[in-house]
Amino acid sequence: MKDIKKIGVLTSGGDAPGMNAAIRAITDKALEEGIEVVGIIGGYSGLINDKIIPLTSEFVNSIVGLGGTRLYSDRCLEFKTEEGMAKAIATCKKHNIDAIIAIGGDGTFRGATDLSLRGIPSIGVTGTIDNDITATDYTVGFDTAMNTVLGALERFSDTCESHARCNVVEVMGRDCGQIALMTAIASGAIAVAIPEVPFNEEEAIERIKKARAAGKRGMLVVVSEGVFYDEGNGIKVPYGEYFRAKCEAETGVETKFARLAHMVRGGHPTLRDRLTASRMGVKAVELIEEGKSNLVVIEEDGKYVPMDIVFALTTDRMYKNKLKDGDLDKYSAEEIAQMEAICQKRRDEIEELYKIANDIAI
Ligand code: ADP
Repeated sequence: MKDIKKIGVLTSGGDAPGMNAAIRAITDKALEEGIEVVGIIGGYSGLINDKIIPLTSEFVNSIVGLGGTRLYSDRCLEFKTEEGMAKAIATCKKHNIDAIIAIGGDGTFRGATDLSLRGIPSIGVTGTIDNDITATDYTVGFDTAMNTVLGALERFSDTCESHARCNVVEVMGRDCGQIALMTAIASGAIAVAIPEVPFNEEEAIERIKKARAAGKRGMLVVVSEGVFYDEGNGIKVPYGEYFRAKCEAETGVETKFARLAHMVRGGHPTLRDRLTASRMGVKAVELIEEGKSNLVVIEEDGKYVPMDIVFALTTDRMYKNKLKDGDLDKYSAEEIAQMEAICQKRRDEIEELYKIANDIAI
């Protein structure tokens, strides 16, 4: 086993609160173990363009509670090419970087796999507000994002109550409706639309009419950005904007629309995100020290454990019905059953929460 003397850390893809806490945990743990740490600036593009800085305990301790990522992030298409990959490997060699810890989402983990396969041991740590990586119960940034959404919903709620309005609020999450679902429950929303479950528009309209008839003044409808209204002829529009007009026309309740967009990605990470980032970061360093590669640290029933990155990404494609030909060929029946169980666990959770959201929305 190669002696690990220096590791590189990077953040890539969409930023998430808690990425800085992960950088801090990785750096301090590695330094404690006598391993040098460098930061790669701007995700994989920093590897390609040789943007490397030393990471010290002083630097990382001043960023632990900050939002965003102080190593900056980027979407780097060149990294997906052989030329780009060759430049990235050359940078690792030039700086004697023995291993990489990559903090990000599924795209970031694909990049980490490519590095691992080319002889640079790489470990992934989750960092995405969407909680959209099926194989892990939790991704760093999710709790902060939900609390930010909840704060915004409460403000909309205040003014909706004063003016007897409805506010349709679109929240991030890509094709994962968990942010919308959980914040809808927590804010007392009258309806929620998520990509995973068909939205019963007529029922929602009836519910709003009934609530207004019963004297309810302010109402919130939370819509995930991954839900669209199909206008036909291949044109799909964001569902929230469509539903605003429909709701106002059919219920007579004045209805506003708001898109929270990227503000949900910012802000100081919550304790949950700092703690999870720290636990995942420390685990990633331990795995590097053990000579492991091509793994992602996941949360499973409150434990932080390694999972093969390709296994995790394949499970994700299975859940999203995006399996490619041959994806499952190398897996045993037992492993495939394990993937199916992970997918089912997530479906069950969404189903349970969706039922709760609707049962208590009156
Ligand atoms: P996220 O990590 O949040 O899912 P992206 O999907 O944008 O974000 O991926 C982040 C970066 O990871 C990309 O800009 C690219 O540099 C790298 N990446 C994504 N997919 C691959 C791939 N198939 N092979 C190599 N690198 C990839």
